[in-house]
Amino acid sequence: MPGIMNVLVLNSGSSTIKFQLIATDLERIAQNADQRLARGVIERIGGEAVCSMRSGGTLPHRATAQLRDIRAAVDFIIRWLCSPEAGLAEIKSVADIHAVGHRVVHGGERFKQSVLINDEVLRGIDDCIDLAPLHNPANIKGVLAARELLGAGLPQVAVFDTAFHQTLPEHAYLYALPYQFYRRHKVRRYGFHGTSHRYVAYRYRYLVNLPREEVNIITLHLGNGCSAAAIKAGNSLDTSMGMTPLEGLVMGTRSGDIDPSIIDFLMSKEGLTAQETEGLLNKQSGLLGISGLTNDMRELLDEARENRDRRALLAIELFCYRVRKYIGAYLAALGGADAIVFTGGIGENSAEVRARICQGMEWCGLHLNEDVNATLTGGREGMFSTPDSRLKAYVIPTDEELLIARDTVRCVLAVPPVNSSPR
Ligand code: ADP
Repeated sequence: MPGIMNVLVLNSGSSTIKFQLIATDLERIAQNADQRLARGVIERIGGEAVCSMRSGGTLPHRATAQLRDIRAAVDFIIRWLCSPEAGLAEIKSVADIHAVGHRVVHGGERFKQSVLINDEVLRGIDDCIDLAPLHNPANIKGVLAARELLGAGLPQVAVFDTAFHQTLPEHAYLYALPYQFYRRHKVRRYGFHGTSHRYVAYRYRYLVNLPREEVNIITLHLGNGCSAAAIKAGNSLDTSMGMTPLEGLVMGTRSGDIDPSIIDFLMSKEGLTAQETEGLLNKQSGLLGISGLTNDMRELLDEARENRDRRALLAIELFCYRVRKYIGAYLAALGGADAIVFTGGIGENSAEVRARICQGMEWCGLHLNEDVNATLTGGREGMFSTPDSRLKAYVIPTDEELLIARDTVRCVLAVPPVNSSPR
């Protein structure tokens, strides 16, 4: 095994694959000096796929290609990485790809940490398909494609979206349903975005130089999907997404929390099937549903600013109010926290949304420096509360791919991943 490993990170969905190639080793990890060699995304797999790839600081290389399935897309990525077009001095042939790290959506109760993939692990991921029928099959196909194209001997690692939240206590992960449904079908809160919450918690700890046991924070991943996590002594104590990513905060197209009786009510009033209702809650609700315009927060903010559109304003207000409510709940659950950390496309880029969320929170010691807040966009990291705030506020851009690459190196070398759930 070479010193520095070129790790291919794959995030395989049913019609989209995102990838990155990251060169790192334990020393680079310790020095935060991992090197991102290439990245890209392939969309509309299954037909005329649209591919956008870039290496180093080059402009994106765009192409279309007939890519029938995930295997064809992974093959396309690998060929491109090895091609003169990519121009990667580090990658002369497939032999220069030393490991593959996969984002896997659902690890159920079985996977509490990232693991080296073998047949038994694949069976375990397969067993969780019931819980993530749209995602886990694509993740498995990504693993099988890489195995076929790069050789069965190449180490592959699974990094689970659910793993970080496996420390939730029973009273936080159980729903108050008849207990046998948990026993029989594992109906419970799993939580998602775990790699993102874990990464920003780890990064926060690095910034403030605290031991893991002293990290008591609330992390807010606000992107297209949104979730909050209450982190106590470095471990996830509660999180807003549930058995599926539908629960909790208002999202781009997902409703987040609703009264479950609404489902039956709407089915009978609108003559909808269960599947249609689920589609409604996942794809037509949230910011899109309230505004009737878009699921894109940037567009909503523009609309609110330029046209004072009432429903755009309402959607933004609903979004921010729900986040604030969760912060309050998690402050209570944690018995107080030292900081709230914003991440994800909205959390990292919108000073306006951050300020609205934090409005009126002086009662719990949160005082914003509006000028600093305004500067924290476009990938900048920092604290935007006043220095004497009892509750601090930070922006920390997430980097799930980096954490997947680091976990991959650590699993291959049998070094425990950082900031993961204790076994
Ligand atoms: P995903 O969850 O799909 O990874 P992202 O984390 O990229 O998505 O977040 C996408 C969201 O971030 C969109 O709602 C987008 O409008 C929002 N966003 C990105 N940049 C800005 C910005 N400058 N101001 C407000 N919202 C932004």
